[in-house]
Amino acid sequence: MAQKNIQAIRGMNDILPGQTQVWRYLEDQVKAVLDGHGYQEIRMPMVEETRLFKRSIGEVTDIVEKEMYTFDDRNGDSLTLRPEGTASCVRACDEHQLIANNARQRLWYMGPMFRYERPQKGRYRQFHQIGVETFGMAGPDIDAELIVMTHLLWQRLNIRDKVTLQLNTLGSNEARANYKAALVEYLSARKDELDEDSQRRLESNPLRILDSKNEQTQNLLNDAPDFFDYLDEESAEHFTQLRALLDAVGVEYEINPRLVRGLDYYSKTVFEWVTTELGAQGTVCAGGRYDGLVEQLGGKATPAVGFAMGIERLILMLEALNVIPEAVHNYLDVYLVAVGDVTSGAMQVAAQLREQLPNLRLQMHMGGGNFKKQMKKANESGAQFALILGEDEVANGQAGIKPLRDQSEQVSIAQTDLAAWFNQAL
Ligand code: ATP
Ligand code: MG
Repeated sequence: MAQKNIQAIRGMNDILPGQTQVWRYLEDQVKAVLDGHGYQEIRMPMVEETRLFKRSIGEVTDIVEKEMYTFDDRNGDSLTLRPEGTASCVRACDEHQLIANNARQRLWYMGPMFRYERPQKGRYRQFHQIGVETFGMAGPDIDAELIVMTHLLWQRLNIRDKVTLQLNTLGSNEARANYKAALVEYLSARKDELDEDSQRRLESNPLRILDSKNEQTQNLLNDAPDFFDYLDEESAEHFTQLRALLDAVGVEYEINPRLVRGLDYYSKTVFEWVTTELGAQGTVCAGGRYDGLVEQLGGKATPAVGFAMGIERLILMLEALNVIPEAVHNYLDVYLVAVGDVTSGAMQVAAQLREQLPNLRLQMHMGGGNFKKQMKKANESGAQFALILGEDEVANGQAGIKPLRDQSEQVSIAQTDLAAWFNQAL
């Protein structure tokens, strides 16, 4: 029996030509916004010691309990494919003294993350995030900057009306602990009415019950203690100021007291940008403040706040909303048609043009063939112009240019004028 060919791992996707154009478009938009605010890129390894994630994300979170790709390397060390970037970023910053002496940092990174989840639309086992982390700034101004930056990005991507900002504060560790106790007391008395997952979380991670998707559990929570009654004064003030800043710059938000986020390290501000365009996987960007994490990982106490966005989900959204500019899919300006015994002459013309116009996207036809066949390829390529070189042209230092996107006539010009001509036309 024929063996089935090897396929990609379930939940890990190839990103194919055509799709990569869209990825680059999105990445370029994000980078432009980040560059515009003075954020610098950092690149971390994809594999870290397992204990880095256990210590930061938290032992009883979904990620650490059941979603990590953990393995022993040949040395017997327990390593993990990173499920997120914040922990690695903090490790790197501490290791290289980027945040020593209260130094401020505004950083970003991009790359694959790995979580053993049930693959479905918008949820994969290898997915990609663009993450942004800031260190050394304790006030609500930087929280606001991060949110305003994402808001600007949505505007540039033409999806601003399709995402809503959900905002909450988790207060100080102490406030959270007090609230946790009150919530556990309330829910313990009604344990039988909770869904199975929430019953388990009552022991392990009770705050996570707040964002349970179970309707009966949500109903039960309507009369639960209100976190805002437990909020410490400093966090309350921070939250008020953040809201005032967002109001002042015109970023709308919804306060969602049930927004707690899946990771243990958050405190004070948490936020999510959500959309109704993607079904259950509606969060496209999520983040918050994690003032305790650096210290928790062995560094000096350092205020920090950041977010991460899911690239696949954003792309699904851009596609669903049909807001990807047409030009994103064009990868060629010029298709060089070389008919007859002209290969070396055509290659020289191409080399000359590339030198004069470094950004020109020119592809030369390879493998010969008659004029008609090569023009067919030129048309299929999506290029804007065919540059035509036959034996006569090469002999006379001339070239033909045929516009491919409209019915304009072919023109004939001197090869020495090509660069100027394309510079003008493209
Ligand atoms: P969710 O509640 O959807 O599982 P999360 O709270 O686990 O998300 P974060 O760890 O905050 O997500 O990651 C930030 C963003 O990364 C998410 O908002 C989402 O856009 C994206 N993301 C997270 N997990 C996945 C995944 N398995 N596949 C695709 N994108 C993901
Ligand atoms: Mg998750």
